[in-house]
Amino acid sequence: MSVLDSFIAGLPKAELHVHHVGSASPRIVAELAARHPDSPVPTDPEALADFFTFRDFAHFIEVYLSVVDLIRDAEDVRLLTYEVARDMARQNIRYAELTVTPYSSTKRGIPDAAFVEAIEDARKAAESELGVTLRWCFDIPGEAGLEAAEETARIACDLKPEGLVSFGLGGPEIGVPRPQFKPYFDRALAAGLHSVPHAGETTGPQTIWDALTHLRAERIGHGTSATRDPKLLAHLAEHRIPLEVCPTSNLATRAVTDLDRHPIKEMVAAGVLVTINSDDPPMFGTDLNTEYAVAARLLELDAHGVAALAKNAVEASFMDAVGKAALTAEIDAYTAAWRG
Ligand SMILES: [Zn+2]
Repeated sequence: MSVLDSFIAGLPKAELHVHHVGSASPRIVAELAARHPDSPVPTDPEALADFFTFRDFAHFIEVYLSVVDLIRDAEDVRLLTYEVARDMARQNIRYAELTVTPYSSTKRGIPDAAFVEAIEDARKAAESELGVTLRWCFDIPGEAGLEAAEETARIACDLKPEGLVSFGLGGPEIGVPRPQFKPYFDRALAAGLHSVPHAGETTGPQTIWDALTHLRAERIGHGTSATRDPKLLAHLAEHRIPLEVCPTSNLATRAVTDLDRHPIKEMVAAGVLVTINSDDPPMFGTDLNTEYAVAARLLELDAHGVAALAKNAVEASFMDAVGKAALTAEIDAYTAAWRG
């Protein structure tokens, strides 16, 4: 481990773009598979490691769906959520806004109230036992269309769990225009939630404009194609609209063809508030610490530069002012004490 890697490993961090099911590590999947012996997912650690080795995007979808198939009751949801927080604690992630897709579970027959109770129960336990603060972004799986949008907005606005802070939109962008989701985002915003759709990951800058205009996005998930439109970059910088950048995910999904050509440098140079995230970490063979190391290499950062990126995530988060000040102070104290 390099000196900078050690710095990153111990650095207190916040993560803003990471998916619930997509965070299921082989260890967690083995636990879930053991609860459901009829599942085709292997429980043997070696076979599971092989199953998890990222091959291509189609294989990622296969792994993702087989994990979705293991989330069958509220106890599975609770176990997954708490164990994801345990993996976060090991990386010194103090705060995470976890993107949760309630529709995937309610459609499979888990009652909405039981689902919400399970994640809230795990959230409270994670905070007191692991020191990880979790908040939720309920997202619409875009490929499932307006029925999923309606169900997600209904659960978000009617049940509105204490940990819920934002409303999102994920899934494929091609063939799933953003403007059609406007009424659902309007409802979520009226209920006091923040708007954080994915946009511009696999499509051009117009999708990001659509997310800003129609969905009133306050942060952009990915926003990879923003650098193709100088006016858009200037707009994001001027209005302090952060980008949730996930470098390894972008390479895995071919949103970028080569990590060295990732547009993160142009984003930073344009003055955009850039945050570093892991998206679906075990499925893309990464974790948040690895993503910080990638960003440090691409942006040629030392420990102080990495700490500044970590503080960007705190600033871009939906923590209250007291929480932001506390985590920023923790990052500063860690950096000041660092003898790398
Ligand atoms: Zn994502």
